[in-house]
Amino acid sequence: MKKQSELYSGKAKTVYTTDDPEKLILHFRNDTSAFDGEKLQKLERKGMVNNYFNAFIMQKLQAAGVPTHFEKLLSEDESLVKKLDMLPIECVVRNISTGSLCRRLGVEEGLDLDPPTFEFFLKNDELHDPMINDSHILTFKWATQAEIDRMKELTFKVNGLLKALFADAGLLLVDYKLEFGRYQGDLLLGDEFTPDGCRLWDAETREKLDKDRFRQGLGGVVEAYEEVARRLGVELPEVSA
Ligand code: 5GP
Repeated sequence: MKKQSELYSGKAKTVYTTDDPEKLILHFRNDTSAFDGEKLQKLERKGMVNNYFNAFIMQKLQAAGVPTHFEKLLSEDESLVKKLDMLPIECVVRNISTGSLCRRLGVEEGLDLDPPTFEFFLKNDELHDPMINDSHILTFKWATQAEIDRMKELTFKVNGLLKALFADAGLLLVDYKLEFGRYQGDLLLGDEFTPDGCRLWDAETREKLDKDRFRQGLGGVVEAYEEVARRLGVELPEVSA
């Protein structure tokens, strides 16, 4: 598999074309961003940790019947994926209230949400990823009704699978964001699943072990990601002295 040219560089990943038109390489960089790119920092080892973390989760999901774009790990910070036609939509499920839900609706932080909420957001940094609904998606042709239904079905399926996986590791899956894309007539889970795009709290202490440590300047960001990876049994390469 030969890496060719850079296709797109996002805030934390760069995407490269390969000699196979159906496959792309994702390079997980150490760059970390928050607040639509306003806060930026390089964090040693984050690219590597996220690459292995994402591979672990994507493989678990794939094995449990959630179709994903993930193919294989290529190096410490690169993975091979199927080339999807990405929908410009973020799907967010929340099990515990925090973040923008509390800001928007004025609800208390830390409530158990039963049933969990589901929200769509438009991927658009300039507009700060506004919340959208099914009607907007249909009117502006961002996805079809069948795709809307499938995104909801798969995002909730991921919730059942990952809530249990994280619970076994002593962690609460508070909320997370997923992105989907089209591939040969199907909808597959794309992008990544890492602590950059979800909230994970220690089940006992409710300590934050995700990107909120970066957003809120709590420090120990990569250490927290590594702690989550260790608890899940993700095998990370030894840190050289
Ligand atoms: P909130 O809407 O509370 O800011 O975020 C809800 C969940 O979705 C959090 O787990 C957050 O990390 C994730 N999320 C929402 N938008 C984005 C985004 O643009 N990038 C990333 N990495 N995660 C996001």
